[in-house]
Amino acid sequence: MLAGGLYERTSGAAGQPLGSYQRRAPERTVLHELVARHAQSMLAELRHADPDGGGLPRYVERELAAYLRCGILAHGFTRVRCQTCHDEMVVAFSCKRRGLCPSCTSRRMADTAAHLVDRVLPAAPYRQWVFTVPKPLRLVLARNPAWTRWTGALVVRAIGAWQRRVARKRGLPTPRTGAVTFVQRFGGLVNLNVHFHLVVPDGVFVDDDQGLRFELLPVPTNADVLAILDRLLRRIARRLAMHANAGAFEDDARPDVLAQVQADAATTWRSSTETRATVRGVERLRAWCEGFSLHAGVVVAAHDRAALERLCRYGARPAFAQERLAWTADARIAYKLKRPWPDGRTHLVMEPVAFLRRLCGIIPPPRRHLVRYSGIFGPASKDRHALRALVPTDRSHEAGDARCTEPRPSQTAGPASRARRLPWADLLRRVFADDVLQCPCGGRRCIVAIVTDPALARVLLARFGLATEPSTFAPARAPPQADLPWDDAL
Ligand SMILES: [Zn+2]
Ligand SMILES: [Zn+2]
Repeated sequence: MLAGGLYERTSGAAGQPLGSYQRRAPERTVLHELVARHAQSMLAELRHADPDGGGLPRYVERELAAYLRCGILAHGFTRVRCQTCHDEMVVAFSCKRRGLCPSCTSRRMADTAAHLVDRVLPAAPYRQWVFTVPKPLRLVLARNPAWTRWTGALVVRAIGAWQRRVARKRGLPTPRTGAVTFVQRFGGLVNLNVHFHLVVPDGVFVDDDQGLRFELLPVPTNADVLAILDRLLRRIARRLAMHANAGAFEDDARPDVLAQVQADAATTWRSSTETRATVRGVERLRAWCEGFSLHAGVVVAAHDRAALERLCRYGARPAFAQERLAWTADARIAYKLKRPWPDGRTHLVMEPVAFLRRLCGIIPPPRRHLVRYSGIFGPASKDRHALRALVPTDRSHEAGDARCTEPRPSQTAGPASRARRLPWADLLRRVFADDVLQCPCGGRRCIVAIVTDPALARVLLARFGLATEPSTFAPARAPPQADLPWDDAL
């Protein structure tokens, strides 16, 4: 996915510094219009509703502002020129945020998955474990990073403990386990739903005189999944009781605007008839109990690295698909459902401000990890080096898989590129989501200038014949009570 602001000069007036440029990527999406037109109104409304007058936390406002500037040339750009044909291109900066911006979050997803498959996960079958919690606990997790961290770690420990027990029964001494955990803050309907996707090797690692190697374990049974879920519930119940007794939730319960926005965003849309008839049960490797659930039904084979990459991308995916957003005729937002509901509904239709509030409830707070490595993959693991040697270097799966079309920083890389420092071209490719230094003529482009001063950017853009308007918020609308009919006599 492009950063939304890649411009290319059409007529190849070789050697001339100026020429006509043409936009190559669509820039004003539905989401962009939504944020530009309605964000200030929403923020003002929430400030108005807040007794303290603060409104949403600053990080939400910063995320909205950064998204609006992402890929817009008037906020700064890089100018590159081909050394062979002297053709030029300007590339806008991207926001690199992880909550709202579809192009930057998609980029992050592709990067994370490529990194995991190329550099972290050794050849082995992998199972996806998904742990979800009931709505009240989702809100606790959304607000409380320590709880999110603890719950994720608890799931990793419970699955690891079960795997090690099975391994020891099979006569494997000192089995080692590990997991990569993706914290997803959203459900499938642009709703706040903090839950955990774990990618776990379907076996254990054993280190003996032959070195570190993988040992396959039997497929978990329904009873295993239910037993792990029961164990998780007991631990969570104990911790909740402890915290409630210590009054720890009273601080958290102070009703601020974000809490209200998150509670609204946690609404799931589903009618109550679709909730499960039984409180506790298990079926096809999915166990559920009192609103919690644990699913272990998805597995990828050891040889299928492309499927593993898709699984990692699924874990690291953005909160919503922007191509499913559309304006309705009466200027509301329609979000297309993956498949029609039994009642025939094909879209969720919402007021723009209401939809925006939902998105704001989902944006992750800054500096919280959304991907965690634990056990043998953890930062402190002494086996990380030995594990690296078990990561397949064969890239043949990439050619045949049409779904993996994102540019891959390490695509052409051999072992030499595994050095710590990435070359400039790789870094730029990561930032701009495209190899901007590769000219269609076959030559290499070099950077002529990096323009960060908006005033200078506009002067230059005007000379290039490109759009110079920055992307700005529309002012907040007046509150509804001001919308009284005009009296011409006044
Ligand atoms: Zn060229
Ligand atoms: Zn962005």
